[in-house]
Amino acid sequence: MRARESDEKTSAGLCPVCGGRTEKIRNLTVYGGTVTRGYRCKGCGYWTGLKRRVPTLYIFSPKS
Ligand SMILES: [Zn+2]
Repeated sequence: MRARESDEKTSAGLCPVCGGRTEKIRNLTVYGGTVTRGYRCKGCGYWTGLKRRVPTLYIFSPKS
């Protein structure tokens, strides 16, 4: 049993939004390899990069 679950990052874990499973987002490179861009939730579509960033490209709840 791990004592510090709150310390775990979102990497390969559960979605912080809906608790669903997350999968790696991979991109093919021109060198024939793959690079992991981040992780995406299969349930709600939430995704996060390996680095800490704000997904400004996505609008979850538009302010109107
Ligand atoms: Zn989710």
